[in-house]
Amino acid sequence: ERKLAQRVLRIEESPSGAAAERVRRLRAEGHRILSLTVGEPDFDTPRNVKDAAIAAIEAGDTKYTSGNGTAPLKKAILDRVERRTGQRYTDAQLAVGVGGKQVIFTALQATLDAGDEVIIPAPYWVSYPDMVRANEGEPVIIETTEQHGFRIQPEQLRAALTERTRWIILNAPSNPTGAVYSAEQLRALAEVLADFPGVEVLTDEIYDEIYYGDDRVVSIVEAAPELRERVLVVNGVSKTYAMTGWRVGYGVGPEYLVREINKLHSQTTSSTASISQAAAAEALAGDQSAVPAMVEVYRSRRDLVVEGINSIEGLSTLSPDGAFYLYVNCAGLLGRTTPSGSVLENDEDVTLYLLDEAKVAVVHGAAYGLSPFFRISFATDEATLTEAVEAIRGAVAKLA
Ligand code: PLP
Repeated sequence: ERKLAQRVLRIEESPSGAAAERVRRLRAEGHRILSLTVGEPDFDTPRNVKDAAIAAIEAGDTKYTSGNGTAPLKKAILDRVERRTGQRYTDAQLAVGVGGKQVIFTALQATLDAGDEVIIPAPYWVSYPDMVRANEGEPVIIETTEQHGFRIQPEQLRAALTERTRWIILNAPSNPTGAVYSAEQLRALAEVLADFPGVEVLTDEIYDEIYYGDDRVVSIVEAAPELRERVLVVNGVSKTYAMTGWRVGYGVGPEYLVREINKLHSQTTSSTASISQAAAAEALAGDQSAVPAMVEVYRSRRDLVVEGINSIEGLSTLSPDGAFYLYVNCAGLLGRTTPSGSVLENDEDVTLYLLDEAKVAVVHGAAYGLSPFFRISFATDEATLTEAVEAIRGAVAKLA
């Protein structure tokens, strides 16, 4: 055996990646699989954004850029952050990465020493715990409940904080539940944090524009501006503008932290691609009409799938306020027996059964740290969603 570092041995391949891999394998074997596993918009990148990228290529904007982006991109990001949060940040308070994912990883890399703790409410985006582990930290997982709308409660936060806590990671709208916090709920969390001045807040707001409520999603920097020097706001263009492959994300926060994030980026990726930056600047500052159009489509799909799932005996789901996922409670299926005689013991058994019997792929809740649930992505066309819901209904009806 060749030697590998502990930091990689402590982490695993993403479970949603593993589910997608299973789908690819079954399809390669000739099965028709309805996949509700995808974590990205099914829409094409808007035309004006693609045109901006093509224009950048033609204009020769194909060279290294400043580490945290070209001047037009920086301006577009900072203006947008101000529109969304009411807070103005400067270039020195801005990090731009190869996706929001890189910014999160680097923020942890810049701040964690061995044994430092990071509070992660569950269910969580699968990458957070492994990003913490990869940087030698310890994820501290706090399970939320469906009754509380999958939101961490202030008393849970207080109970989880220790001398070793460095961060709490908030993600709203959440992947995988779509949960969003009100300004009042954020202020209640901020009040707890006021007693723990050494703790930073990472707020991952990548789904903030995919929102079905009135008004808009509130950021903790807006709800509790007194925390601003301890908050890193992460966002990006991947989800809002159907630009997952372009790899542009950003973080705004205190200068002392952003400086170190940018230093680490300068020694890893230098910057994200210049062409992607031109596209992202157009996405953020140009015509916005594609965004509400996509959100309306997601909304009608959401309503369709929520109604379908809630009409299946043994399954239930809240209607998510944002993002494009349902977190389906499948407790009512546990203990039941499949036609081939096996008993469904946990949410992974449920998802494997649905794959086998309904040919529908979803991701089991254990992957997100809260069972028994499974995640459905509705970033898929309505015909597929309708067919998938009926196939799930048929498979559930065969359980004894
Ligand atoms: N944060 C959450 C909650 C996500 O679901 C994702 C993508 O799946 C990301 C961050 C990463 O986005 P990006 O494409 O900007 O790296």
